[in-house]
Amino acid sequence: MGIKVCKFGGTSLADAGQIRKVQDVVNSDAKRRYIVPSAPGKRGSDDRKITDLLYLCHGHAKQHIPFDGVFELITDRYHDIITQLGLSMDLSKYLEKIKTDIAEGASVDYAASRGEYLCGRIIAQLLDYPFVDAADIICFNAGGRFDAEKTQQRVSDRLSGTEQAVIPGFYGQLPDGQIKTFSRGGSDVTGAIVARGVGADVYENWTDVSGLLMTDPRVVDNPETIDTITYRELRELAYMGATVLHDEAIFPVRKAGIPVNIRNTNRPDDAGTMIVDEAQPITHQGTISGIAGRKEFTVISIEKALMNQEMGFGRRVLSVLEVHGISFEHMPSGIDTMSLVIADAQLEGKLDAVLEDLKNECRPDTVDVYPNMALIATVGRGMSHTPGTAAKLFAALAAAKVNIRMIDQGSSEINIIVGVETADFEKAVRAIYKAFVKP
Ligand code: ASP
Repeated sequence: MGIKVCKFGGTSLADAGQIRKVQDVVNSDAKRRYIVPSAPGKRGSDDRKITDLLYLCHGHAKQHIPFDGVFELITDRYHDIITQLGLSMDLSKYLEKIKTDIAEGASVDYAASRGEYLCGRIIAQLLDYPFVDAADIICFNAGGRFDAEKTQQRVSDRLSGTEQAVIPGFYGQLPDGQIKTFSRGGSDVTGAIVARGVGADVYENWTDVSGLLMTDPRVVDNPETIDTITYRELRELAYMGATVLHDEAIFPVRKAGIPVNIRNTNRPDDAGTMIVDEAQPITHQGTISGIAGRKEFTVISIEKALMNQEMGFGRRVLSVLEVHGISFEHMPSGIDTMSLVIADAQLEGKLDAVLEDLKNECRPDTVDVYPNMALIATVGRGMSHTPGTAAKLFAALAAAKVNIRMIDQGSSEINIIVGVETADFEKAVRAIYKAFVKP
């Protein structure tokens, strides 16, 4: 029998009703053998995530402020879930211990991780699957970095003899036995690690959307869902602001060539988005996979006659940035010009000093600054080796009267990035969408 590892996000576990849907999803396919739950998330927009409440308890305890009230919210949530699911289990002993531990100075990671721990206990009982504590199999080294090798060994040792298991997401253990969490949203990472560890056929990531949308629904009404996308394309879109999966969740499964399927717990019949590796044949030649963008960039444009012949010019430019602790995003260049595209946050409070140093170190003819820039990435491996894609993109932007300030096409040809005025951002995204996806 094949193996599916299923991670369920916070909204899929927010209350007993949602958890029943999770139970139905798992029971409808015998391959769904390893389940990785998050902590209960928000039940509505003004609700609180259990993880946030746990951070709050820890913050109070640290300042020696009583946190009984906040902790009671957590206790009530779990008790309601158990009662409404009709489970005969008592979480009181765990809850009391957690409260005492936090009061007595337990670490912030320990406190935050308990949301997943308790949720895992509940899901294990409900599904009648063994509970495997993530602390026993997800390992970090003494420096707090994830230890992939040791974890891989532990996961396969511990899970190979277990047909089914519930493993809470988000945390693992340091060599000294202390709990350590991934960054926020880290249950995605746990799911990917478990999928790799057990050699899953697919890693199902269950959330509250039916997959990745081709672009931001706040910009384009009802954008189409992406049915298949490669890890690499996803990285490009995620970098430019599209979020569904935790950044680090891609790497373990990508390494093992395991596809990720983004699914919707509220619409389990929707196929969702399949994230696959590059070896899969391109089915959409000439089309794009998605459009994403980010605002708040500044371009510093440097001109100097015969720049192309001046040895070390680029190095001097970049060393100025390095001295000021600034990283840049793109550096398109011409014969006598070079532009630095830099996120505003990087330049904050430093622009004047950077310009001064550029003038002194590089002796340019001119340096111009263009603030309020936005970058838009049009991504799709269907674009590579397809003449006319760029023409279509630029024609669409021209027809929409969008002035393009910068163009950057990665060498892999799966990505064309354009820089436009922030005021033109929405107009540009809509124009590209219309040209490639829906006229
Ligand atoms: N519960 C954690 C968080 O809220 C981890 C997760 O949900 O993936 O960040």
